[in-house]
Amino acid sequence: MEFPSLEGIRVFERGWLSSNQVLIPAAAGESGALLIDSGHGLHSEQTVSLLRAELQGQGLRAVLNTHLHSDHCGGNARLQRAFGAEVWVPEGEAALARHWEEAALSHALSGQYLPRFKVQRSVAAGEIVEAGGLAWELLAAPGHDPHALMLFERERGLLISGDALWERGHAVVFPELVGESGFEEALWTLETIEHLPVRCVVPGHGRAFTDVATSLRHARECLIRWQRDPFMHARHALRVLVKYHLMEVGREPVAATLIWAAGVPLLRRMWERFAPAGVASPASWCEQVLGELLGRGLARRVGDEVLDTA
Ligand SMILES: [Zn+2]
Repeated sequence: MEFPSLEGIRVFERGWLSSNQVLIPAAAGESGALLIDSGHGLHSEQTVSLLRAELQGQGLRAVLNTHLHSDHCGGNARLQRAFGAEVWVPEGEAALARHWEEAALSHALSGQYLPRFKVQRSVAAGEIVEAGGLAWELLAAPGHDPHALMLFERERGLLISGDALWERGHAVVFPELVGESGFEEALWTLETIEHLPVRCVVPGHGRAFTDVATSLRHARECLIRWQRDPFMHARHALRVLVKYHLMEVGREPVAATLIWAAGVPLLRRMWERFAPAGVASPASWCEQVLGELLGRGLARRVGDEVLDTA
């Protein structure tokens, strides 16, 4: 087996719009399987099919979200309906999600799609969650998202890292885009990982990997570059947000993309802080970045429309 740490555990590796899902089947005496993250709302039908095939009649006890970005909790509502699963979310955002304070939740700030779900339980760093006959430690993973959690199973050395550690590079550090601290926290999270006996990582996006030291080095280099040049980080973040939007809509008139950009609260705040001099509005900054995506083949233009490319 390629990853002995993953024995009995099923990883659904999805594209970049949906996060991966990790399914931990129930051990004897447990009331159902536990799923870590539920992917994007637009893919939730497929998520349900994948799970039905894998569960083979076993119940789904709960979905635990590493953090509440729309690509990690978009399937929650559908899975609640399909399987009667509970939803467990990180303590830091539990109250916002319980009352669905949309204006403060990241999907609305970023102009993204997220079906509303119900929160049954909040979980916090330091807790142990029993699943699959294993003890999963919940660890704080601030940086990319201030409230994010990771799961670590010590006997197997298995880390489910969410977006705190990828095989290469580092996820956008969202707090920094609105003038809050995040780079230091992200570096702290990498240090936490470095001090754990990790043998295998299942990240939120991309394949599982075992060369943790190399990934930590790449992530650190990336963060240090951004720390030195936060404008570069912000521009990268804008490219990521626009590309994500295109993945959500598939294709639309360029004018619709610019109207979207004008209405996204996070883009306005990023523009106020980081836009180059002479860029008159969030929409015109978006237009520039769209040009970059087209130039790199990450989007395609046909007449007045822009199309996402895989
Ligand atoms: Zn995320």
